[in-house]
Amino acid sequence: MSHLPSGPERRRLGLDARITRRDFVNGVLVGAGAAALGTSASNVAGTSAGAEDTFTGYGGVGDYARANGNTWPVVRAAHRLRDGQYDSAALANAQAAGDFDLVVVGGGIAGLSAAYYFIKATGAGRRVLLLENHAMLGGEARQNEFMVDGERLLGPQGSNDFVVPQAGAGSLLDGFFAEFALPREYAWQSWDAKLRPLRFARDNYSNMDGFQESQVDIGYFFGTAGWHKNIWVNALADTPFSATARRDLLKWRANHGPVSEAENRHLDTITYKDYLEKVCAYDPAVTRMVEPIVGLLSGVSTDAACARLGRQLVEAPDRPMAVSFPGGNSPFPRALLRGLLPDSLPGKDFSSLMYAPVNFDALERDEQPVRVRLNATALRVEHASDKRGSHALAITYERGGSLSRVLARAVVMASGGWINKHILVDMPPDLRAAYEQFAYAPALIVNVALRQWRFLYDMGITACRWFDADDGIGYCCNIRQNMVTAGHSPVLHPDRPAVLSFYMGLPIPGLPAAVQGATSRARFLATPYMDFELRIRRQMISLFADHGFKPERDIVAIVLNRWGHARVIEPPGFHYGVEGRPSPLERVREGYGRVAIGHSELNGAQHWGSALEYGKRAGEKTAAML
Ligand SMILES: Cc1cc2nc3c(=O)[nH]c(=O)nc-3n(C[C@H](O)[C@H](O)[C@H](O)COP(=O)(O)OP(=O)(O)OC[C@H]3O[C@@H](n4cnc5c(N)ncnc54)[C@H](O)[C@@H]3O)c2cc1C
Repeated sequence: MSHLPSGPERRRLGLDARITRRDFVNGVLVGAGAAALGTSASNVAGTSAGAEDTFTGYGGVGDYARANGNTWPVVRAAHRLRDGQYDSAALANAQAAGDFDLVVVGGGIAGLSAAYYFIKATGAGRRVLLLENHAMLGGEARQNEFMVDGERLLGPQGSNDFVVPQAGAGSLLDGFFAEFALPREYAWQSWDAKLRPLRFARDNYSNMDGFQESQVDIGYFFGTAGWHKNIWVNALADTPFSATARRDLLKWRANHGPVSEAENRHLDTITYKDYLEKVCAYDPAVTRMVEPIVGLLSGVSTDAACARLGRQLVEAPDRPMAVSFPGGNSPFPRALLRGLLPDSLPGKDFSSLMYAPVNFDALERDEQPVRVRLNATALRVEHASDKRGSHALAITYERGGSLSRVLARAVVMASGGWINKHILVDMPPDLRAAYEQFAYAPALIVNVALRQWRFLYDMGITACRWFDADDGIGYCCNIRQNMVTAGHSPVLHPDRPAVLSFYMGLPIPGLPAAVQGATSRARFLATPYMDFELRIRRQMISLFADHGFKPERDIVAIVLNRWGHARVIEPPGFHYGVEGRPSPLERVREGYGRVAIGHSELNGAQHWGSALEYGKRAGEKTAAML
């Protein structure tokens, strides 16, 4: 753990300005700030129960303020479960807390989808309990909220973009948009014609790989070789890349489009690094360019991720940009919540879907058959021999330090495989073996609320990419042109507030895939909030200080969203199996007994649509069990 800098370095980083990043930790005033966080004497972030939460940091304002990524209380409960620290006698004596037709574990898109489609299939009278361990629903599709100079700003915590489904296509996503009356055309923040022309991404991905550079102004920082803008437009001319590197980067970028099933199978047998350097014989500069992108999207480095994944990353440069709601994909779980419990998200229109505060009282009422229980960590699910024969499963969970047990006729596990393997104590050995082949890697999404962003404007860019972060962090960040509604349209102007978002994975090249995920997660969880804050500040200074950025003036708040198991890792063999061993995906999808398993990674690669799909499948499967 680093100590807070003092003297000139402290001033350089702007640490003397009173901002919400450290003056409040989880909403609690911790005093003058610096000393409180800088001198905690532990190498483990968050430390013990009751100790100051040096891990989670400031969470913004609004309903999501206590649920920025995986918060420390959630991480602690999950690790107690993993490490077998729950006393078996206490588990056996958990307080009886009711009977349900269905219990859903997990309140992300998949869990809400399971509950929603279960009710749709069985009728409104069915009793459903959804358990979610965070203080807010949405899982990886949650949002951060900031109030800056009277402006309410939103940013994604993780899941951020989507492609609008074609109306009438008959797909699940088309049906979802129709059912929840989601618009397919949007209004965007306007850009004053008197300002210099500037192009923005409408999500947080279009800028990071440069594929949509024809639509976004991206600055590339090459350290001592300086800044180069929109490098692909003139085929990398003037960049510091060697002639060979330039040639191969252009070849790599042109290699997109559909891949046959046979080729996909082959690509699933090799790593992406081998594909790039041995099959395509590209200059290592290509690997270097894609390394952090693969690290974010697959969680591991190119020498551990399969080539199938890497090959799919490359997109046609003129492909229309994907879009994002202001809070990323959070309206999708919010729509499902509204569908399940209309009183919980008052209103019927699109604007209230995005901005209305959640009515937490409506999540759990004695008289209502569907209940959503937040801050509740499921610990154990097992088939029970109920003498009345009416219930088939017992589910034990912890909430606020107390253990409770409910009975259910069916369970949907919409939490990820990393925790399901600890909760499902009676799963068959072949399912356990399949789950053992799932490994996960972390990701970190940092939203920095800025008072103004004239430094970017003056540089003529809205996004940037860099290649070395020895003293800093990450590889890309951007501000977006946000979607607006009649009731909510913050001004897009270089002198007005905006959210600068950093997306990053934390791969460790050279280690095997699963080891890489676990090692990187251990480091990531042991890093206090303050260390990340310092690295973000240093990174921003190295990028922007020469262009007018002043941390003490411009930074209003920094929110970290840590996802310990952000990505299921896709090593060679994950999709089609290896050495005669089948892919683990199919076995997990089958579930067992009266347990249906439905979470987004059962698709192999995760996205909001796969969460919706596998949740729906699991909800309908359990409906058929009754
Ligand atoms: C950083 C990041 C960026 C992404 N970007 C995009 C994107 O731009 N577009 C896109 O389509 N997809 C994106 N995705 C993927 C996609 O959004 C997710 O795969 C999807 O939202 C996951 O939904 P889920 O319900 O399966 O899982 P989750 O969202 O993980 O939900 C599972 C829930 O279960 C809870 N839980 C876990 N254990 C327990 C327990 N024991 N008891 C109770 N609750 C528990 C978890 O806390 C969580 O809230 C992104 C994912 C990440 C991590």
